[in-house]
Amino acid sequence: MQITKELYSGKAKSVYETDDADRLVLHFRDDTSAFDGEKKSSLARKGEVNNKFNAFIMTKLEEAGIPTHFEKVLSDDQAVVKHLEMIPVECVVRNIAAGSICRRLGVKEGLDLDQPTFEFFLKNDELHDPMINDYHIRSFGWASEQEVAAMKALTFKVNTVLKKLFLDAGILLVDYKLEFGRFHGQVVLGDEFSPDGCRLWDAETREKLDKDRFRQDLGNVIEAYEEVARRLGVDLS
Ligand code: 5GP
Repeated sequence: MQITKELYSGKAKSVYETDDADRLVLHFRDDTSAFDGEKKSSLARKGEVNNKFNAFIMTKLEEAGIPTHFEKVLSDDQAVVKHLEMIPVECVVRNIAAGSICRRLGVKEGLDLDQPTFEFFLKNDELHDPMINDYHIRSFGWASEQEVAAMKALTFKVNTVLKKLFLDAGILLVDYKLEFGRFHGQVVLGDEFSPDGCRLWDAETREKLDKDRFRQDLGNVIEAYEEVARRLGVDLS
């Protein structure tokens, strides 16, 4: 399989087409950003850590019966994935209140939710990823009713699998964002799962071990990602 051309370059990853129309190569770069690209930096080792972290998590999810685009690691910072037609929405599940829900609803960070909650956001930096609901998705034709149902069911299934995986490693899965796409008619998990797109707190101390360390200038960003990887047993060599 040969890389043919760059398809898209995002804030942290670049995506390449290959001579196989059904396969893409993801390049996890060291670049990082927050607040819709307003705050940017480059963090040594981030691309490699996130590529290996993502491969570990996607493999666990696939083993649990969740269809993902991940196929194999290609190099330290590259992976081969299925070529999905992406659905332009972000699916967020929260177990503990943090981030935007605290600002929107005036709840205190750290509040344990009575049950996990689900939110859709439109993927659009210029509009700051506004919150949307099922009706918007249907009215604007971003996805069908069946696809909406599949995205919700799969996002909650990911919660069941990953909450336990992280808790067994002494880590609370506070919240996370997933993106889905279509592959030959099936709704499949795409994008990545890494500490860039979720909140992870130490179960004892509630120390932040995720991208909030970058957003809030807490320092030791990649050291925290590596600590999570070490506790999970991800091979970073
Ligand atoms: P919040 O709505 O609190 O900002 O984010 C909820 C969860 O989704 C957090 O774990 C956050 O990292 C993730 N998330 C939401 N939007 C994005 C995004 O555009 N990029 C990334 N990397 N993560 C996001």
